[in-house]
Amino acid sequence: MALGITATYFKEEGSKLSLDVAVEEMKRRGHLSNNAILSFGINSAPIWLKLEVENLGGDNITRHLRFETSWLDQIDLYFLVSNELKRHVAAGDQQPYKQRENDDRFVAVPYEYTSGITDVYIRIESEDPLIIPLYLYSNDELVDAKVSDGYIYGLIYGFLLALLAYNALLAFSLKSRRYLFYAQYLCFFLLMNASYTGHAYKWFWPEAPIWQQWSNPILMLLYVISGLLFAMRFLGSRIHLPKLHKVITTYCSVLTLIAAGCVLLGSNVVLLYTAFIAIIPFSALMIVSGAVALLSGMKAARYFLAATIFATLGAAYTSFTVSGVLVYSDLGFHAVEIGMLIEAVLFALALSHQFKISQEDKMRAEKLADIDQLTGLYNRRGFDKILSPLFSTAQRNERKLSLLLLDIDHFKMINDQYGHLAGDKVITHLSTLLLEEARTGDVVARWGGEEFILLLPETDSSEALSLAERLVRRAADLTILFEQQEITCTVSIGVASLMIDDKSFLQLLDKADHALYSAKESGRNRVCV
Ligand code: GH3
Ligand code: MG
Ligand code: MG
Repeated sequence: MALGITATYFKEEGSKLSLDVAVEEMKRRGHLSNNAILSFGINSAPIWLKLEVENLGGDNITRHLRFETSWLDQIDLYFLVSNELKRHVAAGDQQPYKQRENDDRFVAVPYEYTSGITDVYIRIESEDPLIIPLYLYSNDELVDAKVSDGYIYGLIYGFLLALLAYNALLAFSLKSRRYLFYAQYLCFFLLMNASYTGHAYKWFWPEAPIWQQWSNPILMLLYVISGLLFAMRFLGSRIHLPKLHKVITTYCSVLTLIAAGCVLLGSNVVLLYTAFIAIIPFSALMIVSGAVALLSGMKAARYFLAATIFATLGAAYTSFTVSGVLVYSDLGFHAVEIGMLIEAVLFALALSHQFKISQEDKMRAEKLADIDQLTGLYNRRGFDKILSPLFSTAQRNERKLSLLLLDIDHFKMINDQYGHLAGDKVITHLSTLLLEEARTGDVVARWGGEEFILLLPETDSSEALSLAERLVRRAADLTILFEQQEITCTVSIGVASLMIDDKSFLQLLDKADHALYSAKESGRNRVCV
């Protein structure tokens, strides 16, 4: 249980009080807190607190007073027994981390309490949100608190770091900036979290108390901006949501300018207000862009919207709690972490969903690349893909295999006489005819402009010849209506069949090509083998 409820306190007005004056003031106007955790918001006047610690036993006992907020600037503790000052301790994050009595992300002050009552006066001064979750721990309890802390943050950081590494790897291996922006967003969340929980002061910048004063608001703003950058990238807002894109980029620029101005003018307080207030438009923009993207038909926006609702509401809840707008609660303090964990899982789903969609698009494009647009038959590329297994199986097992090469006669004249569109219509009609005559298992493809190829497995030379003759006949019987004109055409076909000494498909093709040439030479509208 936090100790706020057992404390009396008053706000210091005007100049800094000496301990003697503060003791008198506390008698005069100190009042009891009605909340276990005192909270006074950003840029509060310094607070004086008084605790009466009673040691009921006869022996001295050591207890640790721990302030479970990492950012309090100056904390002065005065331990008095019978109005006599026994010890004064100065702490707070304006001191380099190295000077702390405990190697602890929170200020924890050990003291040996003698039998009877010890009055502890505490003066706290901070521009940052003045929240005082104050606890009195035995040695064992302090160790327990640190161990359970270690498990909780091990879980949070472990999970988010693994996800960060995974997304960074995906960004690298897939050359996709989307994953990079997500990794960057996670990175700034982790840094911001490590900063305001006091981990970063312990691990990353123990000897930089000045940066420690600025790190929280600066990292909060970087978290906000990187979140919006990711949203823009993920939703493709530049193209799909151009108006919103403009609003978001303007907002990011304004935040950057204000932050730079605050740093240049040395105004930590304005920067703190900016960082906390920035969370509200941030949450709104994230949720609105997700919703707009979803309404405009983007499927992956579903996950995005769900994810950002959790994360941004968590962030808003925590920043309201910390800035003193809401009554302090542990859930409120940790809401942003819970939100980020849920968000991380949903974003992993969203990114994998997008990955799936782009794979499907790629497969569709691959398939399209094998098909001739005009006729819907395989093109040369599609034919080549199917050819090689069919050819090698036939060759290995000494199976029959034949090839027809078909070319429309004087097709140039059809184009010249009736126009290119009429020519196209002739090509499509012929392709339909070929598909009608082909058996299942035969492969029909458009080989070139007005040339077609038919690969016929399990078909010998005479069967191929009779199919070819049927095709020549049917083509000659075909009448194609185009703009009230009747078009007729003839075709020539070269036939070749697989022989034992044929080494490759090209050899077979060459024979069919020669046969076709002979058919053309000997008058067209015929078959040559
Ligand atoms: P031959 O009997 O010797 O084969 O004479 P041809 O006129 O059919 O042969 P040539 O190869 O000289 O001409 C083929 C023409 O086919 C030339 C080209 O403009 C036309 N062509 C190629 N692809 C298409 C197409 O997709 N649509 C149309 N309408 N014409 C095409
Ligand atoms: Mg031709
Ligand atoms: Mg030709």
